[in-house]
Amino acid sequence: MTVIDTSALAERLEWQLAQVRDIVAETHRVKSFMLEPVNWTGHLPGQHIDIRLTAEDGYQAQRSYSIASPPEDKLLTVTVERVTDGEVSPYLLDELRVGDRLELRGPIARHFVWTSGSSGSLCLLAGGTGITPLMAMLRHRDRSSCRTPTVLIYSARSRGDIVYQNELDGMARNDTNLRVVYTLTREKAKDWAGHRGRVDRTLLATNCFPPAQNPAIYVCGPTAFVESASDFLVELGFDSLSIKTERFGPSGG
Ligand SMILES: Cc1cc2nc3c(=O)[nH]c(=O)nc-3n(C[C@H](O)[C@H](O)[C@H](O)COP(=O)(O)OP(=O)(O)OC[C@H]3O[C@@H](n4cnc5c(N)ncnc54)[C@H](O)[C@@H]3O)c2cc1C
Repeated sequence: MTVIDTSALAERLEWQLAQVRDIVAETHRVKSFMLEPVNWTGHLPGQHIDIRLTAEDGYQAQRSYSIASPPEDKLLTVTVERVTDGEVSPYLLDELRVGDRLELRGPIARHFVWTSGSSGSLCLLAGGTGITPLMAMLRHRDRSSCRTPTVLIYSARSRGDIVYQNELDGMARNDTNLRVVYTLTREKAKDWAGHRGRVDRTLLATNCFPPAQNPAIYVCGPTAFVESASDFLVELGFDSLSIKTERFGPSGG
């Protein structure tokens, strides 16, 4: 697994203004914001931006958000989940309007990046909103008509918490080389025919490509999800150097 401190890199990037061009309610707790930065020179699928908010008294708060849109899109999309007692996410979900401007800097980080030029099969593991950078990879794969064998294993709380489900299902329907596997940790409805429970060794062993194929693996989500999924993968015999991870926060999924 690779761990790179990107804070020094972020320090060198300049803050710039971006205008909110569109807002989409994805689920009851999640919205996507389509942003138009003043000066954007492009990004790679998997990278993130920092967003900075400044109060009237000068108090500032900044948070990182993965870019969910592929490099092919003109606007930058970030998808934000409400952290109920949070400082920044409730503001973004409740107060931000189309036409507003905010400050951002990026793109940040090169360790959690996949492009369609990469060789070999691809295994993506998402916990909750950890789907966002993986969605940028899947959208980029789709836009570039790349047919790399790919599996996405996506853990969400319930059906209503699956972000981008229609788009994911549509991509998988049109591409026999893409498989999307959902597992729900808190779904109560009896008619859910998919997997239930947390991502575990059995789910990974059944759905990932075999270790002998040495797939590129990207794991993103809450810290506990990333750590347990990565441990299972290593126990199953996957090369730890092929596992790239991105941690979003302390809990959830
Ligand atoms: C590289 C990177 C990319 C990220 N990309 C995304 C993204 O695409 N979408 C997204 O929604 N978030 C993403 N995050 C998380 C995001 O940066 C914030 O941490 C999150 O929005 C919470 O901020 P807040 O100000 O609302 O909460 P805070 O005020 O920071 O925290 C309030 C409370 O909630 C807890 N908390 C903080 N973060 C989380 C969390 N993620 N889940 C559950 N509890 C939490 C804190 O411990 C604290 O107790 C990313 C984080 C990183 C490091």
